[in-house]
Order: sequence, then C-alpha cells, then structure tokens
Amino acid sequence: SRGIISPERHNTKEESIERALRPKYLKDYTGQDKVCEQLTIFIAAAQKRQEPLDHVLLFGPPGLGKTTLAHIIANEMGSQMRQTSGPVLEKPGDLVSLLTNLQTNDVLFIDEIHRLSPVVEEILYPALEDFQIDIMIGDGPAARSIKIDLQPFTLVGATTRAGMLTNPLRDRFGIISRLEFYSTEHLAKIVTRSAGLLHCEITPEGATEIARRSRGTPRIANRLLRRVRDYAEVKNNGIISDTCAADALSMLEVDPHGLDLMDRKLLETIIHKFDGGPVGVDNLAAAIGEESDTIEEVIEPYLIQRGLIQRTPRGRIATQSAWLHFELIPPKKDIH
Ligand code: ADP
Repeated sequence: SRGIISPERHNTKEESIERALRPKYLKDYTGQDKVCEQLTIFIAAAQKRQEPLDHVLLFGPPGLGKTTLAHIIANEMGSQMRQTSGPVLEKPGDLVSLLTNLQTNDVLFIDEIHRLSPVVEEILYPALEDFQIDIMIGDGPAARSIKIDLQPFTLVGATTRAGMLTNPLRDRFGIISRLEFYSTEHLAKIVTRSAGLLHCEITPEGATEIARRSRGTPRIANRLLRRVRDYAEVKNNGIISDTCAADALSMLEVDPHGLDLMDRKLLETIIHKFDGGPVGVDNLAAAIGEESDTIEEVIEPYLIQRGLIQRTPRGRIATQSAWLHFELIPPKKDIH
C-alpha cells in the first residue's frame, strides 16, 4: 500500500464512499474547464441529432475524475452506463456479451483500456466503426463468420497514458481529452462540496489547507477530508478549521506540499544516489523498487507539473526546487 496520499483507489469501501461523492452532472464537476466545455457542446449536438456521442478517450493520472466523467456523460445523455476494464475482459466472448446487451445510446466505460488483449481489441474495431461485430460460428471447414448488429453506443475509454494505446484503437476515438491536475482553488471547492454531502462543517481556510496537500488529485482530497473529519470530531467539536486541518494532517505525516512517500523517495534517490541526475527511468525504478511504468504514469507527472523534476533526453533531473524542498543546497550545475 502506498499510504494515505497515493492516488490509486484503496479498496471497495473507498469505492462506495467515492460513489456517494461523485458529481452526477457537468454543472457539479469542478475544474477541467476545457474538457467540460468541449463535452457540453458535443453532447448537445449529439442529442440534437438524436445520435450517440462520439467515442471518448480520457487520459491522465489516477484519481483525476475519468470514471466520474464517464458516469456524467451517460447521465447527460439520459442513458445507462456499463462499466468494465481492460484486464477483466479476458476472452472475446466477455466483450461480445457486453456489447450485445447495450441499448441505444448507452455508454460503455472501459477503464485501463490500454490493457485490452489483442483478440478482444479486434472485436472492438467494427463495433466502434459500424456498430457491428463479426463472430465465428463452428470450426474446421464448416466455420463461418456472421455479423451481428449492435445498438448505437458510445465507448468511453480511460487510460493513464494515451501513448500505450495501439494506433488503430486510438484512431477510432472522435474525442480525445487529457485531464490535468487540479489547482488548490478547484480542490478546495471539491472539498467544500464533499464536506456538505458528509454533513460536516468546514471553514474556507480549512478546505484550502486540505486542498494544498492533496497532490492535485480529487481522490486524495476526499480521502484527506474524511481523515480530518475524524480528527475534528474528537478534537474540535467537528468543525474543520485551518489549524485543525493542519494539525490532523501533520499527525498523519502528510507533507505540507502534498507529496507522498513515493514522491519523496524518488526525489531523494535522484538527489542522493545520482547527484541530482540525469538518471534514466529504468535505473531509477531499480533504485526505488518500483515499476518504470508506475514512475512514468503515476509518480512523475505530478512532480513534473510542480517543477520538482525535469525529463531530459539523458534522463530525469532534480530541479533546484527539489533540493530546496528538502532544505538542501542545490549544486551549481549548468543544465543544458
Ligand atoms: P479516476 O477514474 O480518474 O481514477 P474518479 O473518477 O474515480 O477518478 O474520481 C475519484 C474521486 O474524486 C471520485 O470520488 C470523485 O467524486 C472525485 N472527483 C473527481 N473529479 C472530480 C471533479 N471534477 N469534481 C468533483 N469531484 C471529483
């Protein structure tokens, strides 16, 4: 387990709490303005033509709201959402039964779509293009392929890295959107809304304090809110003020800048073991005992956005801010 501020979903209990906090319509979805603006227009146009929305690919690090947006798309279209994930669809038949059960304009959400097996992906191509699937009946010389018509539907695919998709699959999405880390202001708004749903009292400063330490990620913000709420109930009559939030989060050893254990380990490794870099991602992975993919998809994007590391052709470099973060004196190095 990666601790209280890992961006990945922890367990099924967290999943059910998340469900309760999930905004259901675009008007309640905070931030990601560009994506929301595009979707608003495309959804209105699709409804006017009485057609399903074009297939949508959402990419970005975990916990930024991809699943939430898929639900919202279905709600805005007034249709049902079916949910599955790349690794769960083992055999072509798994996907065929999902597809043939879809109703007109339904949303099919496939999480981790980059992890579909090639045989399952083959089924998807004609389904996306022509709302048809080809299946083989019988075997040997008597085998023949038959076409089955599907109801028109929208695929929403989610992935942590668009670069991991095969070209033919990526080409079949009409709308490709990248989700960004959230600003402190947007996260504070999300925290305030969630506090309302959880019936707990929070000051604007208290919400900001939680937001600042949430690694730009709504999933983490909601998780920290629940922890701080417990603390506030015992120590502060249930009211989450800024000092109460700060005390609770210090007790939980949450970094004031919202870095988690792995973030710190990665930065410290670059600084102490590799003299600040550059170091290749595979060497770094071996040094901290993490998969290179996890480094590239989950850990690095936030550190890059915060200006703590740089990706260069020769490898990763810890920036001056990274050294200062650990109260170290940065080396006078020319990085060009
Ligand atoms: P992902 O699928 O990208 O891993 P989720 O959609 O499961 O992320 O979001 C995680 C949690 O964060 C959900 O409980 C959801 O309520 C909350 N959340 C995500 N994005 C937003 C947003 N834009 N506004 C409000 N809450 C959000």
